[in-house]
Amino acid sequence: MSILQVNQTTQLLSLIGHDLKKAGRYHVGACPFCGGDDRFTVKHTPEGDRWYCRECGGGKYHTAIDFIMRRDDCDFKTAYQTLMGKNLEPTQTVTAPSIKPTPKPITLPSHEWQAQALQLVDKASDLLLFNKGQAGQDYLTQRGLHRGTWYAWLLGFAFVYDPKAKRNRPAISMPWLDMDARGEVITAVKYRFIDNNPEGLRYIALAGSMPLLFGLWNVLESDNTLLLVEGEINALSLWQCLPRGVSVLSFGSEGGGRADVMQAIANKYECVFVWCDDAERTKQYQAMLARPCEKIQSLKIDGEKLDANQLLQKGELHNFLNQILGVECLDSQLGK
Ligand SMILES: [Zn+2]
Repeated sequence: MSILQVNQTTQLLSLIGHDLKKAGRYHVGACPFCGGDDRFTVKHTPEGDRWYCRECGGGKYHTAIDFIMRRDDCDFKTAYQTLMGKNLEPTQTVTAPSIKPTPKPITLPSHEWQAQALQLVDKASDLLLFNKGQAGQDYLTQRGLHRGTWYAWLLGFAFVYDPKAKRNRPAISMPWLDMDARGEVITAVKYRFIDNNPEGLRYIALAGSMPLLFGLWNVLESDNTLLLVEGEINALSLWQCLPRGVSVLSFGSEGGGRADVMQAIANKYECVFVWCDDAERTKQYQAMLARPCEKIQSLKIDGEKLDANQLLQKGELHNFLNQILGVECLDSQLGK
């Protein structure tokens, strides 16, 4: 098959890893590379599918081969061969937790991608914990996150290219880890830029990331309450309080997360809470979960809406969790 034919016949939608919404000749949704909720567009043309991202697409449409080059961080020839099916193992497949209705198999990043991602995570974590990561340390400390939390979640510090600001910027790296039968799996690395550049992005994902849920490896079988929260930093803040019997997971920021994965996980819990910044978004997630679940509204103090991290910084998160979830936080008993 020629390059033209490969680009013409590849179904882009099947490569993306999450569902996009149909809108006429287009499909629209979250960008598999940089997130968001509607910035990524797939256009169906006689020459084949083309994709575009408002944030990271460089202002033009791209082909299926371009997609693979970006996803697998590989050269043109490798991407072409991947799509031709010549490559032995571009991706591996595991089955999602088996709750009815049986979810679609989940495609995870390839072993090679995972090995590279873990190397980046290790490097970033070294940088954070030693002198050169001072900016990262300052940022996390100012957000009320303890050193123990940095270790537990393998947080790191890195300079990452921001395609919008067109330069490298300092960022906190946050790996998305999970366990499967064979051991540790890494599905995504998200970077939170910390230098407050209004011209740039707030977050970017490592190319090829296929985020499932943030915090999956940390879930205890014995927990009977699930708290699904928007934003990794909020999840870290909640986790740090150690609410007894509560699993804290995040679908990331700005409308990420796969409905089938969230449903399968949520169904293991007696009680599910959803907490987004925006009440409309909370409703969307409640609908996505398709089961009874409670919503948490960000507390308002003096007209200011406070998310989990802001409550943590004000020393109010323990009380808030205690009142809303009716659970004690182990952290408050450990003393400071
Ligand atoms: Zn993008």
